[in-house]
Amino acid sequence: MTDVTLVTGDGIGPEIAEATRRCIDATGADINWLIKEAGTDVMEREGTPLPDATVEAIKKTGVALKAPITTPVGKGFRSINVHLRQTLDLYACLRPCKSYEGVRSRYTDIDLVVVRENTEDCYAGVEFQRGKDDTDELINWINKRSEKKVRENSGITIAGNNMCMQLIQKPELYDVLVLPNLYGDILSDLCAGLVGGLGVAPGGNIGEKGAIFEATHGSAPKYKGQNKVNPTALILSGVLMLRHMGKIAEAEKLENAVAAVIAEGKSVTYDMKPHRDDPTAVGTSQMADAIIEKMM
Ligand code: NAD
Repeated sequence: MTDVTLVTGDGIGPEIAEATRRCIDATGADINWLIKEAGTDVMEREGTPLPDATVEAIKKTGVALKAPITTPVGKGFRSINVHLRQTLDLYACLRPCKSYEGVRSRYTDIDLVVVRENTEDCYAGVEFQRGKDDTDELINWINKRSEKKVRENSGITIAGNNMCMQLIQKPELYDVLVLPNLYGDILSDLCAGLVGGLGVAPGGNIGEKGAIFEATHGSAPKYKGQNKVNPTALILSGVLMLRHMGKIAEAEKLENAVAAVIAEGKSVTYDMKPHRDDPTAVGTSQMADAIIEKMM
């Protein structure tokens, strides 16, 4: 058995965590789950949104699956998600965006991966300052490879606006986008939009010593406890996790089952139906049941 930490999160977290755990267990991956809490629910009981036991468990197992966690506004807590990524030095964020048949989107046949730098900041400003060695090196590198020349002694700012336009016009041209933190966050949401939205966008945060897999979406508190939301993004994050652990056959089995359920369009949550008030939509748990059934 392989130990994996499962952080159940808050809001819709516990429901989708349970659905995902059941699906992963049904692949036969033989995982011993260390179930740990983080977020607003545990904060009310223990006075901290991120108990030491949770961080220690992730350090011990090296691999974790994490459900979303709310960032409390105005309560003096920084984002637990950012804190975890920085504490564990999970510097690479992997966000694959892939079209699945049956997901409603304006685009088809998209299969690209956004790799986002996860622990350093690259917010607006001049990232490569004029006159610095790094900057001169970058200018030389660009000038050797591009028809357009950068003037000597320039500063360089990284921009994402043209990339956004290109992605909307011809997303099929791209396979892998490697981006700094903020742009990576923005462009990975854009790419999630290309393949049908946050409900189907998985992710992983990976470093030298560990990895945490999580959906791109947040804790959607208004849906808490309603057995309503789509578990697909966290289940597909579980697929990434299984691949990361070398459990390739189990990962493929689970991804194929998810794809089959989505393609059928019957046992899917409200957001995957043609109309959001479609009475045939199933709940989070029932969608997981349908995925498990496909693997039997
Ligand atoms: P959100 O992603 O939680 O929800 C936005 C909307 O997207 C929801 O109202 C819902 O309509 C839809 N949605 C999200 N997940 C869905 C799902 N699985 N199925 C169906 N519909 C879904 O974004 P938000 O409201 O901006 O953030 C809520 C909280 O989550 C905030 O506190 C934010 O900081 C936090 N957050 C956490 C993470 C994380 O844990 N990694 C990521 C993003 C946001």
